[in-house]
Amino acid sequence: MNPYSKQEILEEDIQAVVKDLKNPILTGGSTVDLFETKIAEYVGAKYAVVFNSGTAALHSAYFVAGLKENDEFITSSMSFVATTNGGVYLGGNPVLVDIKFDGNIDVSKIEEKITSKTKLIAPVDYAGNPCDIEEIMKIGKKHNLIVVEDGSHSLGSSINGKKIGSIADMKTFSFHPVKPITTFEGGAVTTNNKEFYEKLKKFRSHGVVKKSLWNQDMEDLGFNYRLSDVPCALGISQLRRLDSFIKKRNLIGEYYDEALKDLKEISTVRIKENRVSGRHLYPILLDRSLWCSKEDIFQKLQEKAIGVQVHYKPIHKHSFYRQKINKSFSNAEDFYKAEISIPCHQSMSLDDAKEVVETLKEVFNTQGVSCVR
Ligand SMILES: *Cc1c(COP(=O)(O)O)cnc(C)c1O
Repeated sequence: MNPYSKQEILEEDIQAVVKDLKNPILTGGSTVDLFETKIAEYVGAKYAVVFNSGTAALHSAYFVAGLKENDEFITSSMSFVATTNGGVYLGGNPVLVDIKFDGNIDVSKIEEKITSKTKLIAPVDYAGNPCDIEEIMKIGKKHNLIVVEDGSHSLGSSINGKKIGSIADMKTFSFHPVKPITTFEGGAVTTNNKEFYEKLKKFRSHGVVKKSLWNQDMEDLGFNYRLSDVPCALGISQLRRLDSFIKKRNLIGEYYDEALKDLKEISTVRIKENRVSGRHLYPILLDRSLWCSKEDIFQKLQEKAIGVQVHYKPIHKHSFYRQKINKSFSNAEDFYKAEISIPCHQSMSLDDAKEVVETLKEVFNTQGVSCVR
């Protein structure tokens, strides 16, 4: 099965892990500091703080942004549930915004959602394609709101030649194996704000600060969200190859753009000229006439060893959120009916991509049923 995304582990990654495992300090050591320095340098931000998951990174960033019980936070209806969960842990209420048909938040619909209870805006870079972060920052500044960008998909993506990760007040990343680089599980927040940086570190480690000698003081209720040294060694090794991963993902993405452009059954998402997407996902969007056959198409592709997946069931469609958010978002709902993510990652070849295209054509040709309603 060729999965929709996966990690690439080479001998050099294994050596980096083994070497670090022999260090006397296994957590809270210098490999953590070094990985943070490398991430900050890579994205062009002043600070980076690593966490033991992307979800922990989001929870921490929302806490540091000041999100409290009954505050509202604005985010996209098309994301993984972790984007909203991070705020719900703090007692916040998610306020969803509909998307454009590229999977990213519709910026023109953000301002109408702002109330006196709004604390922050949390856009997502869907599939690695950077959202309109500059416009969102303008809205944030105008209304005095902090912007926490969920960049779980987009480490290494750029706008106008500049890596994303230094524009939002805080930007979060995930190092889950399907994401741009991996530390097994892991995540990070990047920021240019020293106060945020210090609060993030405190929240990551029980809310405790060192005073003198043995004296520590717990100032806030924090968590143990630390990422240990060995995964950071893997992260450093992976980060060295991130640009080559993105190059490979774009080679495959551009091949798909071309090979699929005349297929009447689907459309694809075009990346704007001034952007580079890390292509965490390659979404194809089924023509409306095929929405009712999506399960069948999905199953046939899986049977033919094409490891497709769907990103995502809209947040408000999950039963936990259904009572909280009793609204509909038509683009997100339609996008969900149309979307299938096909394999796109650094561990596959152009021949594998060709195979995906041929299999798609085969499945559509034998599909037959069209069900316009
Ligand atoms: C993966 C992901 C997360 C959570 O990251 P974990 O490292 O799995 O905790 C959050 N938001 C989005 C959009 C993601 O894709």
